[in-house]
Amino acid sequence: MKHANFAFFIPHLGCPHRCSFCDQQTIAETKIPPSPAEVAAALSEAEALPGAEIAFFGGSFTALPSKLMLSYLEAAAPFVGKNGFSGIRFSTRPDALSAQTVSLLSRYPVTAVELGAQSMDDRVLALNERGHTAADVEEAAKRVHAAGWSLGVQMMTGLYGDTPAGSIETAKRLIACKPDTVRIYPTVVLPDTRLAKRYLAGEYDPPDLEKTLPLCAELLSLFEAAGVRVIRLGLHASPEIEKTMLAGCYHPALRELCSGYRLSQKIKTLLSGQPEGNYTISVAPADLSALIGHGGKWLQIFAQEGFRLRAEADRRLIRGEINLKKEGDHAAQRA
Ligand code: SF4
Repeated sequence: MKHANFAFFIPHLGCPHRCSFCDQQTIAETKIPPSPAEVAAALSEAEALPGAEIAFFGGSFTALPSKLMLSYLEAAAPFVGKNGFSGIRFSTRPDALSAQTVSLLSRYPVTAVELGAQSMDDRVLALNERGHTAADVEEAAKRVHAAGWSLGVQMMTGLYGDTPAGSIETAKRLIACKPDTVRIYPTVVLPDTRLAKRYLAGEYDPPDLEKTLPLCAELLSLFEAAGVRVIRLGLHASPEIEKTMLAGCYHPALRELCSGYRLSQKIKTLLSGQPEGNYTISVAPADLSALIGHGGKWLQIFAQEGFRLRAEADRRLIRGEINLKKEGDHAAQRA
């Protein structure tokens, strides 16, 4: 199988402490990081799609002891330009990208750095024991740009002490850092974390799926409008998370649910003031499964209000566009 990206998980390696919500071993379903020799062995057998990157995720790559960080880079670098790989990307903490580290990394074919920002509110960062500030994110983002690497940012919603308005503000401040990509992770309360203790003590009530959908739909729209590619929304589907999570917002197809929610809001606007009856909704082919999937959840909501909707794909529409036509009418409405 050819890989889009070839990711190595290095759970918690380099992290100076555990942030209150984090358990990478559960998230990545792996406890032991590969050795540099194992990285080289895996890459020598890998086949990647053109443009794929070799990725190190799940820890704080640039906070590793420099000998180990360099060993990983030495193991990966010879494969860039071979087997389809175009470069190396990794995630790290915003306070672990000093000018000295950047200059060390510049000797290797690094193409992208993802900064775990999580929030741009210093109060929320402190409450969740991140150990860095929003200014650290802005400073690290400037260094990534100056080095000529692609910048990725990661943010969370529903953290302890955060609000939906706070998340929107975080998104706006992150957009001002001019990232190329973003990953959005609603908080999931995992056992044996300090956040779990707060939850079990009744000090923290994390937003669930229903509460998080409108916020994530708004974040999607904000980032897309700013030209920032949303490369992930929600944790990867994981039986381990499903089995062990205590609370929070998790769904294996969260992005599609958010897209369906966004389309449903547009349909709601188009239907407002319209008589009950049968309607045909046309959407771009790429939007159809978001609209009719999940047991027809979105269409059922309208059916309960007397609007029976038949959804179809129309190749002339672009993603997010909707045509609405009442049965028997010739004219359509578009949003
Ligand atoms: S959130 Fe990032 S820095 Fe914090 S413990 Fe997890 S991997 Fe380490």
